[in-house]
Amino acid sequence: MCGIASAYVARNAVRYVYNLLIELQHRGQESAGIAVATEGGEVKSVVAPGYVHQLLNRLAIDGVFSDYAIGHVRYSTTGSYIYGEGSQPVVVKEGEMRFALAFNGNIINYMDISRDLLKKSYRSDTSVLVELIKALYRDYRDLVEAVKQLPYIVRGSYSLALLSNEPRIVLAKDTYGFKPLAYSYDGNSFIAASESSALDSIGIDLWRELYPGEIVSFDGSSIEITKAERRSRHSPCSFEYIYFSRPDTVFNNVEVHRARIRMGELLGGRDDIDADIIVPVPDSGRSAAIGYSRATGIPIDEGLMRNRYIGRGFIMPPSQRDQIIDLKYNPIRTSISGKNIVLVDDSLIRGTTIRRLIRILRRKGAREIHVRIASPPIRYPCFMGIDFPTRRELIAGGGRSIKDVERIIGADSLKYLDVEDLHLATGLCSLCMACFTGRYPIKDLNIDRLEKVFYRRV
Ligand code: SF4
Repeated sequence: MCGIASAYVARNAVRYVYNLLIELQHRGQESAGIAVATEGGEVKSVVAPGYVHQLLNRLAIDGVFSDYAIGHVRYSTTGSYIYGEGSQPVVVKEGEMRFALAFNGNIINYMDISRDLLKKSYRSDTSVLVELIKALYRDYRDLVEAVKQLPYIVRGSYSLALLSNEPRIVLAKDTYGFKPLAYSYDGNSFIAASESSALDSIGIDLWRELYPGEIVSFDGSSIEITKAERRSRHSPCSFEYIYFSRPDTVFNNVEVHRARIRMGELLGGRDDIDADIIVPVPDSGRSAAIGYSRATGIPIDEGLMRNRYIGRGFIMPPSQRDQIIDLKYNPIRTSISGKNIVLVDDSLIRGTTIRRLIRILRRKGAREIHVRIASPPIRYPCFMGIDFPTRRELIAGGGRSIKDVERIIGADSLKYLDVEDLHLATGLCSLCMACFTGRYPIKDLNIDRLEKVFYRRV
């Protein structure tokens, strides 16, 4: 999972993209980068490890005042967690043409494309995607036509931004519509970001989302909109609603915060627990906890303090996750001491965070801890861009029952949201829910093989 941004703003595109990336920081913290089209006909990229603000020095050194820019924040799903591999935007050249790519998604068949089509060994799906677009450009001599061919070759998910030295910005979404991407054009400026909330935050009220398979090209004076001819079943990632997107983001015309509140209401509406307070796991469990409280009438209180200067544990390399949880959360003793608590979280993936939180809460005096999860048990890996690639890493994977999970995490009781309730909460009849059901929108995936391809040792 990553975040992408792009802007055409006279002399000021870098500032806009920088601000958009700050607003998308929750989508990736491993590296950040910005590429610009220069007046000299080049495309240059500046990439730094870590947070977006760490780009500042490098941008200042380059002193760029470009009209065109694209940017990227990275959370890797293939290749290494180490900075460098797969960091974006990646710049390539083909004859006189230069272009940069920033993409959010995961190319499942990147090794096959690498071997069979590109005849070279590439270590990351980003490198394969950019080399593939380059090869297609060689055949079609047009960036939009090249991108139009992707659904016939690429299996997986992508929302992408390309910047060429023509100069031109091209945005595209895969035909399933897995990942969010929205843009705005007011007749002067053309601005795009992975999440609509990033556009809202910089003062853009009017924007629209790309439809699945849509390609939007902007050359500085006009927009051209085309659609990939291939059709797929609309399958937006349900995890964007559950955890990944910001609550103030709108994805497929559904506000994420409203969907999460509804998840909590549905979870609470089917529950009969007797407890003193509801404690959300901050921050992503908060909207669902509000809904759960509304449905049950149990008061909600802040029982866990979160250190806001530590990033999202789930999107950090596994080797860092345990230490981070201890530093990140501290209970508010008067809220929880001697109380029966309903601890509400958005999801359980590896179970590392909730297990430690339960221990910490008990140590600080909580009497009973009933865990409620506002999504169904995650039993299958995701190959479309979220980093839970093998069944054995998943706490509810490998045939474990809900009672098994309850025992492993040390809760007094555990309940999950039903799969059907995700449809009700979002109001969408078509969603990707493969990590819950094992039914992948992309057909004929060999899960055993893919687990080996995407499993990463750190
Ligand atoms: S498998 Fe799960 S995480 Fe992956 S795209 Fe589908 S819903 Fe999202």
